[in-house]
Amino acid sequence: MLSLEVLTMAGRLARAMGQPLEAVAIGPKGAAAAGIPSSYGVSTLHVAGDPRLAEYAPAAWAHAIVELADQVNPAVVIGTASDRGGEVMAHVAARMALPMAANCTDIQLGDPFIVTRQRWGGSLLEDAHLKGRVKLLTLAPHALTAEPSPSRTEVATRAFRPALDDRDFRVRFVPQVEADTGKVSLAQARVVVGGGRGVGSAEGFAWLEELANLLGGAVGCSRAVTSLGWRPHSDQVGQTGTRIAPDLYIACGISGAIQHMVGCRAAKHILAINTDPGAPIVAQADYAVIGDVQKVLSAVNAEIRRVKAGEPSRSSA
Ligand SMILES: Cc1cc2nc3c(=O)[nH]c(=O)nc-3n(C[C@H](O)[C@H](O)[C@H](O)COP(=O)(O)OP(=O)(O)OC[C@H]3O[C@@H](n4cnc5c(N)ncnc54)[C@H](O)[C@@H]3O)c2cc1C
Repeated sequence: MLSLEVLTMAGRLARAMGQPLEAVAIGPKGAAAAGIPSSYGVSTLHVAGDPRLAEYAPAAWAHAIVELADQVNPAVVIGTASDRGGEVMAHVAARMALPMAANCTDIQLGDPFIVTRQRWGGSLLEDAHLKGRVKLLTLAPHALTAEPSPSRTEVATRAFRPALDDRDFRVRFVPQVEADTGKVSLAQARVVVGGGRGVGSAEGFAWLEELANLLGGAVGCSRAVTSLGWRPHSDQVGQTGTRIAPDLYIACGISGAIQHMVGCRAAKHILAINTDPGAPIVAQADYAVIGDVQKVLSAVNAEIRRVKAGEPSRSSA
């Protein structure tokens, strides 16, 4: 959970500055997180109490944060660099008329702060000076590993009700009820089977679907695939798609363009299946199988099916 990474970084900053760490919970996930902060060194958890904040509304969430900042006068406000976190913090910066440094990976205290931040989809790291009476930042996903603070704290929970305006809700998320497919989501999956142009067709994804099912994972794809209309955009991994952090990413017929790798660089292991040994993904993968994706997956899937059925594997037969 990216919020825990932010709490980890914020805790380090607070300890270095000798300041208390306070957190704000907005929306259903924020409320669900109410039990977490004690192990992350939070002294006060501010819970925004307006029921209209239950669903995502970027200007309203920002309004709540700005109003809280006016009350508690923080030295630093730090959020996640998720799509929503970045949007809310941009609103916060605009409302407070302050600069905001997005996608930070490292923060050096001082005046100004010196922050290292990701640019160009993570292909470039920039050192920047961050000024302002309140330092506003977002932390790049997976810039560090979330870890509880060295000491637990007694958390005081404080409800507050921001004075929201109807105009704050001009942009808001309206949930749609979808049938529960029972499938694991791309962002949360421990195994992702990704397909690129090399899969050859929409129908070719049947092998990837089967492998993902066998491994309890999810199917992802490259932008070439969504552009061809083979898969929906919700399956796209990358700079303009979902960022994934599975234990294993199996990249099938994907060349490994930088915009794709931005989305899967947090994978613990990458296995590439590609006909071209010179494809960039092969150099970046932990393991590579050089071969036609359909042939490789038909053999891999058959082997996994056999093992699952309790039959001896062909390699040990
Ligand atoms: C602003 C911007 C944002 C972008 N955002 C994203 C993004 O979010 N995600 C993303 O993925 N891309 C993104 N792109 C596009 C990106 O630059 C690449 O064009 C894209 O990732 C390429 O997709 P691909 O690897 O499937 O296709 P290709 O680059 O065409 O690669 C196909 C690969 O399949 C291999 N292959 C061919 N046949 C077979 C076979 N039978 N078996 C096995 N392997 C085979 C080939 O050797 C090759 O390596 C973005 C581009 C821009 C400019």
